[in-house]
Amino acid sequence: MAERWIVTLIAGLLGLMIGSFLNVCSIRWPRNQSVVHPGSHCPGCGDPVRWYDNVPVLSWLALRGRCRDCDMSISTQYPLAELTSGLVWAGLFWTHGLTPEAARGAIFLTLLFGIALSDAHFYIIPDQFSLGGTGLGLGLAFLPRGVTAIESAIGIVGGYVTLWLIGVGGTWLIRKLRPGRLEEVNVDRALGGGDVKMIAMVGAFLGLWGVVTTIFLGSVVAVLVFGPISALTRRLIPLGIFLAAGAAVSYTWGDALLTWYRTNILMT
Ligand SMILES: [Zn+2]
Repeated sequence: MAERWIVTLIAGLLGLMIGSFLNVCSIRWPRNQSVVHPGSHCPGCGDPVRWYDNVPVLSWLALRGRCRDCDMSISTQYPLAELTSGLVWAGLFWTHGLTPEAARGAIFLTLLFGIALSDAHFYIIPDQFSLGGTGLGLGLAFLPRGVTAIESAIGIVGGYVTLWLIGVGGTWLIRKLRPGRLEEVNVDRALGGGDVKMIAMVGAFLGLWGVVTTIFLGSVVAVLVFGPISALTRRLIPLGIFLAAGAAVSYTWGDALLTWYRTNILMT
């Protein structure tokens, strides 16, 4: 029991540091900037962040969310993303113990979180998350438990093709039913290429069933939340966020969903 607490604590601390790096990636990758150079600096005065001001969550609290040099306020996104990542890593290692599945799950949810952050800010899903994550997911499928490498490969191709077809069909449908609507919101198609590559990553980690539940859950949330907000504000809301949420739910409760579907819908 003591061992479980220690594993969880170390995973949580690791998650905090990964969350800190994830913030940097999610802000710099969409702008094609290096995540290594320059080192962390204040966007206000440009001064480098001292190592003791760069401790996840604690530094932000100690500085009360302001730069030590120029007093500019530092976004709450930094401590919140660090905390979220720390909780995700702690939670998975608490649930699965010190196993490959815990690491696989934590990496997958971290990638999804990074995608949601980038998409929310820039309407861009960096290839480093989607394509890099696809390679990572396929590689990790060779580990015991979870999806097999074959299921992972089928998930990648199946996910890519499915969402690509939905995108083509959606574009055709919108042009037919609401001519000029796409031009109104400044896009040339219903789905971005980033979303399609992202679903391939989801397929790599979850297989084809995970792709199906992710698209289904993502669409339900998107229609309930995205529809009204988009209609009111006439702004596009990035679909990647909903797909990320759908994929996180699919990973966490996918087996329960499958059982429920079989017993209540298929009646088998
Ligand atoms: Zn500053």
